[in-house]
Amino acid sequence: MNENKTPIGNGDKNNGRLPKNTQNMLMFVVFLLAVVLVFGIFNNYPSEGASQKITYDQFIDMLENDQVAAVEDAGSTWKITPKDPEEGISTYYTGKMDDDTELLPLMKEKDVEITPYIQNDLWVSIIWNLVIVLVPVLLLWALLGMAMRRMGGGGVMGVGKSKAKVYIEKETGITFKDVAGEEEAKESLVEVVDFLHNPTKYTEIGAKLPKGALLVGPPGTGKTLLAKAVAGEAHVPFFSLAGSDFVEMFVGVGASRVRDLFDEAKKNAPCIVFIDEIDAIGKSRDSRLGGNDEREQTLNQLLAEMDGFESNQACIILAATNRPEVLDQALLRPGRFDRRIIVERPDLKGREDILKVHAKNVKLDESVDLAAVALATSGAVGADLANMINEAAIQAVKNGRKAICQKDLFDAMEVVMMGKEKKNSILSPEERRIASYHEVGHALTTALQKDAEPVQKITIVPRTSGVLGYVLQMPEEEKNMMTQKEMEARLVTYMGGRAAEEIVFDSVTSGASNDIQQATRLARAMVTQYGMSKRFGLMGLEARESLYLENGNVLNCSDETAAQVDGEVMKILKDAYEEAKRLLTENRECLDRISEFLIEKETITGKEFMEIFHKVRDEAADYHQEELIFAE
Ligand code: ADP
Ligand code: MG
Ligand code: ZN
Repeated sequence: MNENKTPIGNGDKNNGRLPKNTQNMLMFVVFLLAVVLVFGIFNNYPSEGASQKITYDQFIDMLENDQVAAVEDAGSTWKITPKDPEEGISTYYTGKMDDDTELLPLMKEKDVEITPYIQNDLWVSIIWNLVIVLVPVLLLWALLGMAMRRMGGGGVMGVGKSKAKVYIEKETGITFKDVAGEEEAKESLVEVVDFLHNPTKYTEIGAKLPKGALLVGPPGTGKTLLAKAVAGEAHVPFFSLAGSDFVEMFVGVGASRVRDLFDEAKKNAPCIVFIDEIDAIGKSRDSRLGGNDEREQTLNQLLAEMDGFESNQACIILAATNRPEVLDQALLRPGRFDRRIIVERPDLKGREDILKVHAKNVKLDESVDLAAVALATSGAVGADLANMINEAAIQAVKNGRKAICQKDLFDAMEVVMMGKEKKNSILSPEERRIASYHEVGHALTTALQKDAEPVQKITIVPRTSGVLGYVLQMPEEEKNMMTQKEMEARLVTYMGGRAAEEIVFDSVTSGASNDIQQATRLARAMVTQYGMSKRFGLMGLEARESLYLENGNVLNCSDETAAQVDGEVMKILKDAYEEAKRLLTENRECLDRISEFLIEKETITGKEFMEIFHKVRDEAADYHQEELIFAE
């Protein structure tokens, strides 16, 4: 069998049988031949009415008795048309005998119409038959095929005939240079590349080659990219399939796909097999929610295939997941995915490097300072940053510029984080006032507390993500942890928006829901995870279920304690709110002046904010001094 001609891209089955396509073709041809044959036989039979066989003697008798009107030579038979046909019979036929010398004169004598044999062209007739048959058959075939596809996934007949989109790249063309940051992950993977490069170096000593490595990290940190880079560095083919491709409605399909994937990979060793989002099949089998036959079978097949690999076959299986905690233990034991490579969120330097990598593909002008962008995007992952650069490029094109400037980058950052500006959504004047005071409330509480970060920008232009305005804060340096003081300051900042609404308008709005949510999450974490409440001390009350995804914290304490935790969280939030109200009431003049300015401008920079802030404070200090002098 010609391996090169069997495209794995179509997922052809290849269990020592003919490839599926060839089988189909064969069936089609046999079918066609049968139809042509049947058609041909029919065509050669006299078609007009019924024809009855008679003996040669009877034929001669009929001739002599003047009963024959016409005789046609049909090649091997005589076709006889009687003068007065019997009911239901229009012609007779009989075989020929070598007595033309007697028959011909007799027929002439009786004045019978004679039609000699017409030799019709064999090829013309065959081709004609073929065309007549082929056209309807082809039409039927096409229709059937379409109907099948309509039924989805190749129809019922397609089940099990693996159509998984195995994605193969002979050369990924991606190298470690394309993956910025993630130095530790790359370091672990360099080893894998070396295994693939010269496996003999290791096998000679007797070392077993590693079979699999698990890339673990939050979404968008570059796990898929790293896997491709390994293949690219080692110059080996890259087979990839997402975990969800294995999971089908029908039991057994996933397992057969695993088999196909590994069969193909073995043939192409050395190579990389990459299973993305492996948690889709690798979930722990003893899950509390009851079993899932299909998934378990698939997983078992995967385990079996991984064991079946000869360790001298330089095939390395990489898998990626952002939920390592749900994986089945059997997947993680030595000999399977025993290497775990952590792909973390990039730090400041990592973010700058990622920006640089992606900036290579776009034009930047001299105002661009990627370090500043990196500083402002704490918590962003590679995918966010790549997206940002692209947004900035689009922004630049929209504004008719030839290169990206720093402002484009910051705008893009906001678009990526907050959604696009909703230019045509109109806030009523009253809403604008409230939104303005709300945002300034946040900003002012930030500025008033020394431990909080300075403000970068305040805006009340609504965004597509639903926010009516926001305060953009800019850290001065990268922070890896937060002190309790900083957390408390942040809580006050969260509460600043709502506090301003209450102080100024004496009523509150729904605009603070997100603030409340975030504040509650932080306060709860302080109590249950960080050991920052006096009441519970260092007791761990909540465990994070997922390391890399935001959701899934589980309380592990009694209901009674849970109720007390709620009380404690409530108290922390209340204190923060009171503090915010106190700060804003004491600086009411500041709050009013900045808010009025914001209503007018819609967006103000941190610099403008600080100018007013300092002016008002200086005035207040002067006033205070005057008062003192006056008192003297
Ligand atoms: P994951 O598989 O971890 O969810 P991907 O590897 O699919 O993330 O990353 C998505 C995109 O984000 C990549 O195609 C790449 O453009 C960009 N990206 C992510 N991490 C990095 C990185 N460390 N360096 C450069 N680009 C990155
Ligand atoms: Mg991925
Ligand atoms: Zn708010």
